[in-house]
Amino acid sequence: RSPERSGIPLPLGPQRSGTWDDLPMAASTPPTTTLLILGAGGDLTHRLLLPGIATLLMAERDRTLRIVGSDRVDMTAADWRARIKESFATVKAPATVTRTGSRDTAYIKADILDPNSLQDLISSCGDGPLVIFFALPPSVTMKCCELLQKIHLPHETRLALEKPFGTDFASARKFNDLLARVVPEDSIYRIDHFLGVNTVLNLIGLRFANRLFQPMWSNEHIEKVEVLYDEALALEGRAGYYDTAGALRDMIQSHLIQVLALFAMESIATLDARELQDQKAQVMRAMRLWNGDPVTASRRARYTKGTSDGRRIPDYIKEPGVDASRLTETLAEITVEVANNRWAGVPFTMRSGKALGEVRKMIVVTFKDVAHLPHGFAGPSGSDTLVIGLKPGTVSLTLTMNAEGDPLDLEQKTLEAVLAPPRMQAYGEVLGQILDGSQLLTVRGDSAEECWRIVEPVLKAWAADKVPMETYAAGSRGPRNWATSREHV
Ligand code: NDP
Repeated sequence: RSPERSGIPLPLGPQRSGTWDDLPMAASTPPTTTLLILGAGGDLTHRLLLPGIATLLMAERDRTLRIVGSDRVDMTAADWRARIKESFATVKAPATVTRTGSRDTAYIKADILDPNSLQDLISSCGDGPLVIFFALPPSVTMKCCELLQKIHLPHETRLALEKPFGTDFASARKFNDLLARVVPEDSIYRIDHFLGVNTVLNLIGLRFANRLFQPMWSNEHIEKVEVLYDEALALEGRAGYYDTAGALRDMIQSHLIQVLALFAMESIATLDARELQDQKAQVMRAMRLWNGDPVTASRRARYTKGTSDGRRIPDYIKEPGVDASRLTETLAEITVEVANNRWAGVPFTMRSGKALGEVRKMIVVTFKDVAHLPHGFAGPSGSDTLVIGLKPGTVSLTLTMNAEGDPLDLEQKTLEAVLAPPRMQAYGEVLGQILDGSQLLTVRGDSAEECWRIVEPVLKAWAADKVPMETYAAGSRGPRNWATSREHV
């Protein structure tokens, strides 16, 4: 991390955003940041957050941080260290990294809905830089933030918040208003770990560092765009969360709209947090449901029994903990238009679901056909397509070219590139930026509201039962009559 002062934009990575020239000359050691994890005994902390931190520390060996865990469960310091060790072991962290993660760590039992306990907890973290990570149920996070308004926080305390950011547009705005009374927006870090996924970040370089795509990236050349996130996994015992969320809220409203924003936003001048946030917010403001009609622009379905990923899956409504009367969808699809000069008329379809027969986590860009194919060619021509893999990390371009045999016959062939594996888990990337005080990979308040504004008419139409609940067998590609269920989308 010793940048040459070349004046070129900083690459995405551990550094602050901006240009090398923006970095201060003096290399004094910054004070160690304390990461206070609220909900340290929970699932997110164990399964995603601590392993993410481990990969961050593995990739950046000179990084220091002090982890303080807090929850209402009884835990000794030794128990807490053992938990860190166990989570770090899931990503095969070497002993030196586990030692760094456990250095000066502490576990403090507290009911954070008790104002005195909360004040004591915050005070015990000292006056140095503090990031409070809310790994709490959303309703508890809200209540805790209400208490934080009246509590003394160290200077420049940062809040790292987990999704969901509200449950609809009004509650997202209410939450933002509350947060604004605690700390300024530039100290608020709304986490969407998709923004730390290397294949999602690949979109920025792919789009803006390739001359080839620059003139093609518009309604003049692109016929349609599909953002797909089909999973083979079914409910996996997560009814408590999933049955109240569903595919639209769980995946599309949050992650896939963020991905779409990076795909469709205007060019950025520097890899700077404000620049990126501005462009993402601008393109989100232009998104609206196709034809402005939630009934024709959305589809929903849920799985019935079948076999997925080699496992027998029951009907969704018979999964333990599911309340059939909630009519929760396990597959959702919405089509939006980006109503600006660049994109008007291009359908952007986002789809995500569970228990599907083929895992498809990708963006499929279908280009318009050539205006005129010279008469006389034989064989299929078909549209050029660009598939940007979100998982696994591949980029493939399907083009029409000579077939074997007659040099004037045509066939489609695919060129494929495979991305290098990520250097750390997505949570590590996002957290690294937060610890550095950069909002490059988090969600700004206005974007969090926009995501709800875009999907809210669909949620209302579904609640009023204006869109039928279709079914698909677990292990299939989804309802047969959906265009996005076909083999080649
Ligand atoms: P959990 O319920 O597993 O963990 C929450 C923890 O907070 C529990 O240990 C709980 O204790 C504790 N807690 C609740 N109330 C209090 C309180 N008043 N004082 C102190 N501690 C309290 O939830 P998750 O870890 O699954 O989720 C946390 C957040 O992360 C949620 O916002 C969720 O939406 C988000 N998220 C989770 C993901 C996941 O895969 N788990 C993925 C993406 C986001 P107790 O058990 O006693 O109630």
